[in-house]
Amino acid sequence: MTDLKTFEVWFITGSQHLYGKETLKKVAAHSQEIAKFLNASKDISVSIIYKPIVTTPEEILSVCKEANASKNCIGVITWMHTFSPAKMWINGLKILQKPLLHLHTQFNRDIPWNDIDMDFMNLNQSAHGDREFGFMVSRLRMERKVVVGYWKDESTLKSINVWCRAAAGWNDWQNAKFVRFGDNMRYVAVTDGDKVEAEYKFGFSVNTHGIGDLVKVINEISDKEVDTLIKEYEGTYTLSASLQKNGKQRQSLKDAARIELGLKTFLQDGNYKGFTDTFEDLHGMKQLPGIAAQRLMQQGYGFAGEGDWKTVALVRAMKVMATGLKGGNSFMEDYTYHFEPKNEMVLGAHMLEICSSIADRKPLCAIHPLGIGGKEDPVRLLFNVAAGDALNASIIDMGNRFRLLVNEVQAIKPKHKLPKLPVARVLWKPMPDMKTGCAAWIYAGGAHHTCFSQNLTSEHLEDFAAMANIEFVLIDKNSNLHQLKNELKWNEVYYRQT
Ligand code: MN
Repeated sequence: MTDLKTFEVWFITGSQHLYGKETLKKVAAHSQEIAKFLNASKDISVSIIYKPIVTTPEEILSVCKEANASKNCIGVITWMHTFSPAKMWINGLKILQKPLLHLHTQFNRDIPWNDIDMDFMNLNQSAHGDREFGFMVSRLRMERKVVVGYWKDESTLKSINVWCRAAAGWNDWQNAKFVRFGDNMRYVAVTDGDKVEAEYKFGFSVNTHGIGDLVKVINEISDKEVDTLIKEYEGTYTLSASLQKNGKQRQSLKDAARIELGLKTFLQDGNYKGFTDTFEDLHGMKQLPGIAAQRLMQQGYGFAGEGDWKTVALVRAMKVMATGLKGGNSFMEDYTYHFEPKNEMVLGAHMLEICSSIADRKPLCAIHPLGIGGKEDPVRLLFNVAAGDALNASIIDMGNRFRLLVNEVQAIKPKHKLPKLPVARVLWKPMPDMKTGCAAWIYAGGAHHTCFSQNLTSEHLEDFAAMANIEFVLIDKNSNLHQLKNELKWNEVYYRQT
């Protein structure tokens, strides 16, 4: 993944000429100091770039045009140290295409009780200057994040950084390419959707290749490359007996490695950021990609099964947002329930393809039969997932809009060994409780495919949804069904109006 520090967020301070040169010099110096502090903070993952203060409509329009055209600029932070009459901002904001964060802070943390005079008041007027700016952003019906707090406070920095990470994910989607091998799984509804609208709304494209195009690349992989990758498998995982050297299914491990190398070559050559396949279309492939999908996800590629291109894109974006954080993000499916009273939980897994970034320890590399697809037994990585706060996110196409749905969950340490279950798996308890969480998910039309995250919060995804200007629905510890059902109905009206 790209180092997030290569991305820039521009720090733009608004003012006006009313106060004279000396005051504007101070505004610029203070603004520079804040930008420098944010840039150097260990809590901020991207580069924060100071931009000269803006005091006229022309300067504002110009810096917004510059931000739009800049390849490295992934978002803009605005702050009004003094008062910046907001009609000056109309034309700039109207054309701004990068995500916007409005930082409502003040250069001085405290009121200097004994020394405060009108000069102090006139310099430190963000309390009302930012309200004038805020009105205009609301008046223009623009999505943005408002962060309130002193600029050195940890909570302020953390909230800014959540947005910066979301902006990195959003930036990654722009002009991204995802590839589908084969079509959507026959008759499945939620994995399908409007790819034209998605490209318009989200900026990424999804195009298809016949599986034969991939098989050709797989078949061109040399034995030497396969041997090198098998050495890597041996160094990284515990291999089950039949896959070890001279084991009776060693050839299947070689086939799996060849599939991984072929997929990776295809993705690299086509500049793709993720892929989806389907067990219904594997002509010429020996196995359904198992370990290949698991390892490519761990390397940062988006993936989802059965032609589910929306989840592919979501997995990729969430991996970018989480760059450098402890824990992982994986394609996931709500598979089976445990309905024991007061201990209800969900067992999440997939046929094979759970990302090894969420493994709690060194995975076991094993081979088992797969009941569907009609191919040879696929090699896969087996592991459990650690306990802790997590979430499931899903993007669905409601016909007139996309909805990003998030359910906060508590991952549970498994008490049982599940010796006969040959797939990687996670146990979790949905928030606020099993009955409410699952019912809310179903009322909201959430998919069975999700991205499971150990290291992102619902705030990351809420900020991301705002950047994409799509609906965001959260199921968390405060959710209740009555309120959620109403929220969905009210949203329905809102999205018919806009
Ligand atoms: Mn599935």
